[in-house]
Amino acid sequence: MSDYGSGSAPSPPVRDLAAEALEAGHNPYATVLVAADGSVLYEARNQVSSSDRTRHPEFEVARWAAANLPPDARATATVYTSGEHCAMCSAAHAWAGLGRIVYAASTAQTDGWRKEFGGHPSPVARLPITQVIVDADVDGPVEAFSEELRELHRRRHTRDT
Ligand code: ZN
Repeated sequence: MSDYGSGSAPSPPVRDLAAEALEAGHNPYATVLVAADGSVLYEARNQVSSSDRTRHPEFEVARWAAANLPPDARATATVYTSGEHCAMCSAAHAWAGLGRIVYAASTAQTDGWRKEFGGHPSPVARLPITQVIVDADVDGPVEAFSEELRELHRRRHTRDT
């Protein structure tokens, strides 16, 4: 799993996990938590087709980290994620004391795709990470992945109609 160590882009496993989430009937989002040495600590994919709409992978990662990692390991870890954190997940990330975030698609992009493909609007204000986390260390979007992610979102929203 050394491909996470030095790059700034979410590696293929994040995209593969997002596609897996879609195949399993959920929204196409996934998150991988990577230690300072480049090793993968935890992976999560979206599970919101259950009745619990809080089952975002970024939230799962923050809760796992809070329960399983000492504070210094959380602070030096990087969260690679397919979509920019929502306000709930940004807050969980900050409360858990996690470090850098690298996201592939921005909230503005995923909102645009949702609109384009006729998806339901979010009931939560669409705040960027930098408006929720004080002094956020964040990189994104990663344009190289945007067509691939747009296609996953197209499949997600056209499945509903
Ligand atoms: Zn979220």
